[in-house]
Amino acid sequence: MAMSNSVLIIDDSGTIRERIIKTLESTDLFSRYYEAEDGLEGFKKLLSAPVDIILCDLEMPRIDGFKFLSMLKSRPDLQDVPVLILTGMNDRELKIKGLDQGASDYITKPFDPEELIARVKVHLKIKNLQDDLKRSNELLLELSNTDHLTGLFNRRYMMEALDKELQRSVRKNGPLSLIMLDIDHFKQVNDTYGHLQGDVVLQRVATQLQKELRSYDCAARYGGEEFISILPDSTLKEAVFVADRIRLSVQALKFSGDLSPLNITASLGVACFPVAGIATVDAFIKLADDALYRAKTNGRNRVEFHES
Ligand code: GH3
Ligand code: MG
Ligand code: MG
Ligand code: MG
Repeated sequence: MAMSNSVLIIDDSGTIRERIIKTLESTDLFSRYYEAEDGLEGFKKLLSAPVDIILCDLEMPRIDGFKFLSMLKSRPDLQDVPVLILTGMNDRELKIKGLDQGASDYITKPFDPEELIARVKVHLKIKNLQDDLKRSNELLLELSNTDHLTGLFNRRYMMEALDKELQRSVRKNGPLSLIMLDIDHFKQVNDTYGHLQGDVVLQRVATQLQKELRSYDCAARYGGEEFISILPDSTLKEAVFVADRIRLSVQALKFSGDLSPLNITASLGVACFPVAGIATVDAFIKLADDALYRAKTNGRNRVEFHES
């Protein structure tokens, strides 16, 4: 077990705190020890220095162990820190109440040093496993291919997919089209209906976009309210046709509830590979992006394309 753990000991008796620290110092479990005289002081210390495990007396003046447990509950970032409550030998009711309110375990006073160490080890182990699991989940999320708001592919995945398609297109000497879509005046939607409703609009546009594409096309959220579609084996003419169908279906979207009077439009830019002088994903995307920019300056709610 790592030596870099830290522990917080909360007890109004200095003698007990000292005895606990002496006991734990006989192991190499901890590199840092924090002490507090009551729940409030303990909570404050915790906020300035997060710890791996807490030993907490139940009966203390002012803020006791139960109040401390309920303060912990209000902080999602501190909820996973195990709390071992310190109770008197015969405090059956208090033990049960403490466990019920979120304590991980209890230690009876006067404590048996070996038992204290054994219990602390068990809960440190669980805590460390939980931390590892949390880190792997965060990593998985980072490595994931999906945009979590819309369920479409995310930008990272799209860039990889487009790179592969570009190589395939070169190999097979076949066309590859790209459609870039940007919602018109989306800032106004946020300003009028709020950011959360704006998110609902993004989800609806994403669903609509997916509907208009073939199963082997790929739709991704490129940025805030910008979407990209990759259309393998599609010529420019075919892709412009699809882009206009998407434009019309976005225009036809009906919103209910808080968004009911809303109508939205989108501008789209299309480019088709191969294009002379274009060999990279970034350069290819820029062609579609330039076309999209022209769609905006030419009045929005329209499709423009790169002409080679
Ligand atoms: P234009 O017609 O020129 O595209 O106008 P616009 O208002 O859409 O222009 P712009 O691209 O500058 O604004 C995009 C807005 O999209 C700004 C930003 O607040 C909003 N936005 C970006 N990401 C999100 C998101 O995830 N959710 C919501 N609700 N809004 C977002
Ligand atoms: Mg006490
Ligand atoms: Mg934009
Ligand atoms: Mg926009």
